[in-house]
Amino acid sequence: MEITLEDVKAAASRIQGIACRTPLKPAYTLSEKSGRNVWLKMENMQPTGAFKLRGAANAILQLSPAQRQAGVLTMSTGNHGKAIAYVAKKQGMRAIICISEQVPEVKIQGMKKLGVEVRVVGKDQDEADIQARAMAQSEGLRFISAFDDAGVIAGQGTVALEVLEQEPAIDTMIIPLSGGGLMAGMGLAAKSLKPELQLIGVSMEQGPAMHLSIQAGHLVEVEEKPSLADALTGGIPPDNQYSFPLCQRFVDRSFLVSEESIAKAMAYALRWERIVLEGGAATSIACLDKHLDEIPGQNIALICTGDNVAVPKLVDLYQQHIEG
Ligand SMILES: *Cc1c(COP(=O)(O)O)cnc(C)c1O
Repeated sequence: MEITLEDVKAAASRIQGIACRTPLKPAYTLSEKSGRNVWLKMENMQPTGAFKLRGAANAILQLSPAQRQAGVLTMSTGNHGKAIAYVAKKQGMRAIICISEQVPEVKIQGMKKLGVEVRVVGKDQDEADIQARAMAQSEGLRFISAFDDAGVIAGQGTVALEVLEQEPAIDTMIIPLSGGGLMAGMGLAAKSLKPELQLIGVSMEQGPAMHLSIQAGHLVEVEEKPSLADALTGGIPPDNQYSFPLCQRFVDRSFLVSEESIAKAMAYALRWERIVLEGGAATSIACLDKHLDEIPGQNIALICTGDNVAVPKLVDLYQQHIEG
């Protein structure tokens, strides 16, 4: 099955009322610093604190009555799980969220608050993913992947539709990259509407599975390491159908950023842009800062993907990394 611009457009109208149309905020301090026109796409303002709500809503709203009746199961670093939980609750459906032991407590609490079943099923995400799929099969529940699902990808693509509606002059987008659902959907939408637009992926240095897979031309296994960008960690299961080939097609450049530069970007966002960003989201700011010379375009949208970071941790990072 191929995913098209039409699927992304259909998703945009389907998810209205669940996911928000977020602001595209001109970032004047970043613009001044970089000499480019920089905007922030504020997905951190979604009700669940991340863009994952778009994909989750689009996937769940397309289930058959029988599938709705049975419920859904997923595996997630947190933001996708939280989004599935939120939408399932709104729809009065059963949802089981499987997570690995690496997921931070703040995200687990967020999901439990939404009243879903949370199961800790593996020491890392690869292990949790295998166990979650098996569980879904044996319990007759629909498994919704965080990034390799046609409905999820079309939903994430609505971010690019909105950005180009809000500011048609955007010629470069910097997109945090993990399993590649966001990049795949945004690539489909953005490159269909504006083929010359440049898509830049950014990942953390600690185990960047998609970055290394794109470089290698095939899926590469990585060792999962702790990172401030916890939403970007984890591997890509070998049965990948959609997100890897789409990322191969659409990513123009892919960069890595260090833990130090992620921490600085989180502190910078708080100080100068007055926004809370989790590590995974702050990679887009870190990328602009560290790789400016290699980034094309005059009108750049940074996708601020989420804000799910524990406040004491952010305050701590702020105090250690704020400069000027
Ligand atoms: C999931 C996530 C990403 C990466 O999205 P993929 O579709 O897995 O590439 C980036 N930032 C945040 C905050 C996320 O939750």
